[in-house]
Amino acid sequence: MFDILIRNGVVIDGSGAPRRRADVAISGGRVQAVEPGLAKKAGVLIDASNLIVAPGFVDMHSHADRTLPILPTADSLAHQGIATVVIGQCGSSPAPLSERTREIVLAAQRSDDLPLPWERWSSFASYLDTLREVGTSINAVPLVGQSTVRQAVMAFSAAEPTAEQVAEMQEWVRRAMDEGAVGISTGLIYPPGSYASTEEIIALTKPVGERGGYYFSHIRGEADTLLDAVAEAIRIGRETGASVEIAHFKAAGRQNWGKAEQALALIDDARAQGLDISADMYPYLAGSSSLKSMLPEWAQEGGKEATLARLADIEIRRRMSRDMERIGFFRGSEWDKVLIATSPRNRAYEGYTVAELAEAAGKSPHEWVFDALQETELQISMISHYATEENLIRQLRVPWMMIGTDAGGAATHGPLSQGKPHPRNYGTFPRVLGRFVREMGILSLEEAVRKMSGLPAQKLRWRDRGLLRPGYWADIVIFDPDTVSDQATYRDPHQYAVGIHHLLVNGCLVIRDGQHTGARPGQVLAREG
Ligand SMILES: [Zn+2]
Repeated sequence: MFDILIRNGVVIDGSGAPRRRADVAISGGRVQAVEPGLAKKAGVLIDASNLIVAPGFVDMHSHADRTLPILPTADSLAHQGIATVVIGQCGSSPAPLSERTREIVLAAQRSDDLPLPWERWSSFASYLDTLREVGTSINAVPLVGQSTVRQAVMAFSAAEPTAEQVAEMQEWVRRAMDEGAVGISTGLIYPPGSYASTEEIIALTKPVGERGGYYFSHIRGEADTLLDAVAEAIRIGRETGASVEIAHFKAAGRQNWGKAEQALALIDDARAQGLDISADMYPYLAGSSSLKSMLPEWAQEGGKEATLARLADIEIRRRMSRDMERIGFFRGSEWDKVLIATSPRNRAYEGYTVAELAEAAGKSPHEWVFDALQETELQISMISHYATEENLIRQLRVPWMMIGTDAGGAATHGPLSQGKPHPRNYGTFPRVLGRFVREMGILSLEEAVRKMSGLPAQKLRWRDRGLLRPGYWADIVIFDPDTVSDQATYRDPHQYAVGIHHLLVNGCLVIRDGQHTGARPGQVLAREG
């Protein structure tokens, strides 16, 4: 007698091997058998006729560390078939917090519209314990953020650290690794993490490499400086021994589209020379970030209050404007491609482009951006269009390219149902399977599933997860290859993907017949010893 028996489905096991007809039996959270004609009785029978049975998807780039404590059911992610998220990305993890950074986040929380329960943790271990206590529907693989560590030691200073400060930061990293982080992340366009030199990052990543850990990076530039930024990530990998993952790979801005191929070639060369380096991407032509990330780095030094003070100064605004023209990839001519996503302080902005909003207000786009940042106290986010589908297709075909939502996740109900978040929150994985596999034939279904399960499992060196095999944890998605697709759009994002019929996480049904069951069987997949 099995706990669950999935019958009559077509198994794609995540290794890239061709599909085959087989039943799948599950007991005690693990796959017991994958064979045709399993006749034994089971507590729950799932009829998978005409459906694909595959390993649950792995989201290689997730910001769900900030949503799981608020929305542990991770609805928009589970409805995509995601069983596991890699969190703590872009340099920013919720922990560890020093006493000083605790005060900063707790002060900021008072004006936050979606407060995290920051009071529940300080150390990296206590954040992971919070996830376990809350109980999540999906598994989480934790990274420690380099910017978080830098803030713990240096607050928002742009200064070069002293030798003592470097040693102190290394100690924070070491402790986080020993408490379960699988690696470190950077977000090298976001202050204060971006104030770090390559040497400083190497110093912090050394204890990670020594422990067989990972360096996940939102690299220092995805536009004009893309190639230098990829080269920096390669150097960090070589000098630390850490396995490198480049986040949400893209070449941003029309003038840089030709660089995607060169950047991919740089990574190919590094791989050929033995470096463990790979990348992930999301299948959209637009990205999303906070609106303040358009400001020059110097304008954000010192944190929120200091940034707001600068925005109030006409002379400083002029300097910002000049630098934004010069260095930003959001060229003046492209303000019609920057859409305001979420603006809790003034919802009237949501869903309109900066060009539209500036014109309606009779202001220049820069003026509108500065005013809006002041008005909303920097709590406003954007979606910006900068990619070309030709590159998306090129990247999807790369054998070491994985998939990441770059999203925290949302839901059609509750606190995360507001605003116009990027549709990747709801549609990333189904969009690859629907648009790029079924409609355009860019990849075989077997190859797409491998990029979503077996390949991340290989990267993360899992021995009993990520493939559909006996003895493995039963993270399983069951979907209809003829209907699977994303529904979320930029102007109307809060729509679950369709075609994902069932999702099991650790042998427990999280999605059943397209409905979230409320179950929370997720585990924290922390580094062991
Ligand atoms: Zn990022």
